[in-house]
Amino acid sequence: MGNWLILALLVAHPAAALTVVIDPGHGGSNCGAVGPGPQKPIEKRVTLAVAQALRRELERRGAHVVMTRERDAYLTLGERVRRANGARADLFLSIHANASLDHSRRGVETFVASRELVDVRAATTARGAHDPAYAMALRAQVRFIAGESARLARAVQTRLAATRPGDRGVRQAPYDVLDGVQVPAVLVEVGFVDHASEGLELARREVQRAIARALADGVVDFSGEPAATVARR
Ligand SMILES: [Zn+2]
Repeated sequence: MGNWLILALLVAHPAAALTVVIDPGHGGSNCGAVGPGPQKPIEKRVTLAVAQALRRELERRGAHVVMTRERDAYLTLGERVRRANGARADLFLSIHANASLDHSRRGVETFVASRELVDVRAATTARGAHDPAYAMALRAQVRFIAGESARLARAVQTRLAATRPGDRGVRQAPYDVLDGVQVPAVLVEVGFVDHASEGLELARREVQRAIARALADGVVDFSGEPAATVARR
């Protein structure tokens, strides 16, 4: 009977028992990208609004959510990473909005830590281990998390690209905020705030909610798939 109850709860709440850290990019004096025109969509506001909508979507699906910031406040990268690692989370989503030099680009993309960053992290993590077998296990753990980050990125990007125009794909970047987090971590660029029409769309509640629903669906897809059993090199 008890097992059936747990099963029923899991079916009703596909993200049940997941702890997700949401990191709304920028904040306070760090505005991020700023769009043109009188409305001037500002990245820090878009990221917080999408993050708050995502929190509601994930909680509705049964997940436990921790935010690195809940208001317009400045946070260092180190503080974001500390809050993420302190939450004993299952995964980490950093929310950002883009800008391009000629203001012509639009679309969505999801970043994971670059291979170089993962290599350095694997080496430094294993450095303190005196036992070679333990060092190997530590390196394998770092690579496993990198593989899971890539799987999370694909799940999120697939849902996002089905919701918003312009699939810019999954990419690698040496972002510090992705480096220090010890769980599967991605950075999502939900659109370009400086694009004449996309910037205005990103400031709209219903667009922010649609993006949040897509991200939450991606998290559910990720958590429902079997984890990669072999660390990829
Ligand atoms: Zn940003």
